[in-house]
Amino acid sequence: MKENLLKLKERIALACSRINKNPGFVTLVAVTKNRGVGEIRAALDCGILDIGENRVQETLPKYKELQSYQPANSANIRWHMVGHLQTNKVAQAVEIFDLIHSVDSLRLAEEIDKQAARINKVQGILIEVKTSPEATKDGVIPQDLAKFFKEVSGFKNLKIKGLMTIAPLVDNAQKARPYFKKLRELYDGISGLSVLSMGMSDDFEVALEEGSNMVRIGRAIFEG
Ligand SMILES: *Cc1c(COP(=O)(O)O)cnc(C)c1O
Repeated sequence: MKENLLKLKERIALACSRINKNPGFVTLVAVTKNRGVGEIRAALDCGILDIGENRVQETLPKYKELQSYQPANSANIRWHMVGHLQTNKVAQAVEIFDLIHSVDSLRLAEEIDKQAARINKVQGILIEVKTSPEATKDGVIPQDLAKFFKEVSGFKNLKIKGLMTIAPLVDNAQKARPYFKKLRELYDGISGLSVLSMGMSDDFEVALEEGSNMVRIGRAIFEG
């Protein structure tokens, strides 16, 4: 894993250098769905600070077990919810996650606001945008984003930090470029945002070239 992370960081730095961007501004979220606590600990020991999960039920026991774990650098772990969030899991999600990447409906935003208020928290969120026309994907469609952003901005216990997208599966990462470009345009059109979450193991270099400052990587860290 150490080797994988070294290689990954090199690739991130190289992609950043192509657009004259400081790789220090890129947050690497290690996506640990289906990985055990031992693997997460190993990643933390290699300097990872951001952990991404996609199911609340799976995260809870890992979160509990790692609460007492002090990584070598003794910083706090930041937990990211990158998967689709069901409203009946929100009460637990706000207890765990620093950033919820997948807010895409008013009903979900409302519930997160309500549950965050209950524990006196301002919950950081990203709005998930459906940048590709694939029928199965979650996310707000670009034409609805301005209206949705305005509505969600009204919730006192939510802080919209930025936008997130998942590019469709393609055989060549270059084919994902238009979707990243689209999200970047939408991001630039809204003031006050700081997080642009896009890019996974197969397409993060293209995402970085298009302005991503948060990549969500699983396989390139934990496999191979
Ligand atoms: C699993 C997952 C990732 C990481 O995917 P890899 O291809 O393993 O890098 C990133 N984002 C989301 C939303 C995921 O579900």
